[in-house]
Amino acid sequence: MALLEIGTDFTLTIDGQGVAGSLTLDVINPATGRVFATCPAAGRDQLDRAVDAARRAFPAWRDLSYEQRADRIGRFCQSLREHQDALAYLLTMEQGKPLQQAKDEITRAASQSEGMTRIPIAPQLLEDNDQRRIELQWFPLGVAGIITPWNAPINLAAGPLTSALYTGNTVILKPSPFTPLCTLKLGELAREHFPHGVVNVLAGGDDLGRWMTEHPGIDKIGFTGSVESGKAVMAAAAKTLKRVTLELGGNDAAIVLDDVDPKAIAPKLFFASFVNSGQVCMAIKRIYAHERVYDAVCEALAEEARKAKVGSGLEPDTQLGPIQNRPQYERVIGILEETKRSGARILAGGEVPKGDGYFIPPTIVADIDEHSRLVREEQFGPIVPVLKFSDEDDAIRRANDTRYGLSGSVWSRDPDRAAALASRMEVGTAWVNHHRATSATVPFGGAKESGIGRVYSEMGLKAYLEPRVVSVLK
Ligand code: NAD
Repeated sequence: MALLEIGTDFTLTIDGQGVAGSLTLDVINPATGRVFATCPAAGRDQLDRAVDAARRAFPAWRDLSYEQRADRIGRFCQSLREHQDALAYLLTMEQGKPLQQAKDEITRAASQSEGMTRIPIAPQLLEDNDQRRIELQWFPLGVAGIITPWNAPINLAAGPLTSALYTGNTVILKPSPFTPLCTLKLGELAREHFPHGVVNVLAGGDDLGRWMTEHPGIDKIGFTGSVESGKAVMAAAAKTLKRVTLELGGNDAAIVLDDVDPKAIAPKLFFASFVNSGQVCMAIKRIYAHERVYDAVCEALAEEARKAKVGSGLEPDTQLGPIQNRPQYERVIGILEETKRSGARILAGGEVPKGDGYFIPPTIVADIDEHSRLVREEQFGPIVPVLKFSDEDDAIRRANDTRYGLSGSVWSRDPDRAAALASRMEVGTAWVNHHRATSATVPFGGAKESGIGRVYSEMGLKAYLEPRVVSVLK
């Protein structure tokens, strides 16, 4: 289909039409550091038009059945799959991740979206006796504003988009200014499958996000991004009491117990830490290894890091692409330099190559101070500290000693022993012997400052619905 040819034919989607922007955005390929595309961006007037369209489209969309809406979403997912190759290429160009991982992101977005539309939402009978009948019903909120980050723009749009649409809301979707292109293409595909005004897609910077969170015509914000922005979203949403779902940053700990086989688990630990060059909210960002296996775990991880192929996502053997954008690249280099100055041991990586792209090799750090920036902050890049513990109570205390609470994991030959420790993690998800897995039917989201609410599952869908009690006196 011509519309998905890679080129400069990017348009906003407002009221079912392709629209030029009042503004423009330059998009950089992080593997070269150079601008490779320019796309439209929305001014405030265009946000108003999109909100008007979404409000007009809402009653008819709301009044369809769940099955009818699931059918439209299913067709949209099918067209994502049909255009997977072109979308994946564009995703690699703008985001940097290896092409196969870009394809996987699209497959995951389609299958998780379809999975969510198989979750039944039904009224619940709370009481039915001689005196009265009380039913709990669910009705859609209205217009949902969905704001996404740059690390997985298709998958992180698909979850909230499907949640909002399946439950009968209409949508304004805004991607990160660093990765707007695939999301604009999603808007083009959506025009073929949804009535005018149901899905509006506007590219734009943080300003557009702020206008959305303040807009009186938007009823809900589904936000994925940093803790700092999440707090600003919540403060702005308070003025109109918009509902919010906040999927924010993490500083996930993996606790490795004394009975593991270090060589066997190292590839899994490495992948969960470094996939997408560590730019994953639920990546492992701190590894606590028992002193009995500490040296062996460090060495096995360093071995994985030395083997990993870093390069342009378009090269067939690349496993780790560049950092997505220059500010984040400079931030990670700053953390790396501080780490080196602190005297911590760099076991692999650590040297940033010269050149145009934003490449940082996977870096494993041992013997680092618990209070260092690398341990305390969300690094969101390919540099991971390995810390030593001797006592499980101490490990869990240190894992929990953070304002983040997204997810975590415990690794052991004895899953029951590990599960007991995992149940003490102050997180939204605690995995045992794996890390970083989501599905349509399992709620995902953060404890503490890692977020509010959950995505996926019945819980995530109900975040786009308002409960209504109907109480009938007989
Ligand atoms: P960011 O917060 O800078 O930006 C995210 C989005 O919010 C962008 O579209 C941006 O334009 C917009 N925005 C920024 N300020 C805003 C404001 N005041 N009001 C409204 N919108 C605003 O985050 P980022 O750097 O793009 O993404 C990286 C962060 O996202 C990391 O912290 C990562 O952990 C987090 N993240 C969380 C999840 C999750 O599911 N919990 C998933 C992916 C990424």
